[in-house]
Amino acid sequence: MSDGAFYSGLQAKLETLRNDGLFKPERVIASRQGSEVVSQDGRTLINMCANNYLGLSGDEQTSRAAAAALEKYGYGLSSVRFICGTQTVHKELERKLSEFLGTEDTILYAAAFDANGGVFEPLFDENDAIISDALNHASIIDGVRLCKAARYRYANNDMADLEKQLVAALDAGKRHKIIVTDGVFSMDGTIAQLDRIVALAEKYGALTMIDESHASGFMGKTGRGTHEHCGVIGKIDIITGTLGKALGGAMGGFTSGRKEVIETLRQKSRPYLFSNTLAPMIAGASLAVLDRISASTELRDRLMENTAYFRQEIERIGFTIKPGTHPVVPVMLFDAPVAQKFAARMFELGVLLSGFFYPVVPMGQARVRVQLSAAHTREQLDTVLEAFEQAGKELGILKNQ
Ligand SMILES: *Cc1c(COP(=O)(O)O)cnc(C)c1O
Repeated sequence: MSDGAFYSGLQAKLETLRNDGLFKPERVIASRQGSEVVSQDGRTLINMCANNYLGLSGDEQTSRAAAAALEKYGYGLSSVRFICGTQTVHKELERKLSEFLGTEDTILYAAAFDANGGVFEPLFDENDAIISDALNHASIIDGVRLCKAARYRYANNDMADLEKQLVAALDAGKRHKIIVTDGVFSMDGTIAQLDRIVALAEKYGALTMIDESHASGFMGKTGRGTHEHCGVIGKIDIITGTLGKALGGAMGGFTSGRKEVIETLRQKSRPYLFSNTLAPMIAGASLAVLDRISASTELRDRLMENTAYFRQEIERIGFTIKPGTHPVVPVMLFDAPVAQKFAARMFELGVLLSGFFYPVVPMGQARVRVQLSAAHTREQLDTVLEAFEQAGKELGILKNQ
């Protein structure tokens, strides 16, 4: 407490963030997560910005499964997995996830951030090359930094550039090469071209890794993920993902792949070895979620229907969206102050969504991002679309205005 300059320095940096409009305030919700939430001031808002794709966060069945696991296995383990922190529910979840993803084995983490943080360093060293999409998630970037492998970066979803980087790694005489990509990029809802990535990997003898955080549970005909969507199940070497989005929404992450990869991670991956076991109620609820979505594609189908409906209607009203099929729908407003005003107006109209401006997205690409959920009713979506139309008219941003 004797270094005053340290604290005044932090205050100045925080002030700069506020002045630059980059400070992130936290919205406080006084209810469960859901397609509607109650804000702290008692207003009910339609929620269009959660990663609650299947509507399972705040869902009654999910809560009951968590409560049952809480009752059976207790609250926590006070241990890492290998000392005395592995229960039958953790092994069952790992088995069920492997079955769901079409892999041999799976290892659980406290978060996908940890899964990505702990996947590279045990498997690759300075003789190897990691070839990473430029827009990959922060946790992949951090994980790569913790590893001594040479780093190659290719422009987002750009297969020509990926091939160039593969050639560069080959020319540099790298032993193992791994191509790493988000299955889906959450800012744009872009889906990685895994069929082409797998073809390039085969051509150059490279491994492949995908982060399925915005895909597991709903992408592909039966919701297995981007590898199912792109027809490459069984052809991806390593899959990481989260239990904190579509698959129940509490927290937790995983890495899935060949037995020898997962076994190596259990022995060497630092966020696994030196951090507490995933709470058993989360493991139990995640198991119930996997059973539910394996038994029926109803939730995933409703999500995709909602997505198709919203994408069609928002364009009809006169907004510009990034084309695609993913439940992340970027509604482009281009100009940062307009996007800011628009998000604020939507909030007044009872719709919760998030605005993104430079430097989170490129200059001139300001937007509000809508995320659809299976929990949204048609009435809720129509209310949201009416609010979009009203705010769009007021701000003069509709194409056909
Ligand atoms: C959300 C997200 C993560 C982090 O997931 P957590 O389980 O919340 O740590 C990792 N990767 C991607 C691509 C994500 O979208």
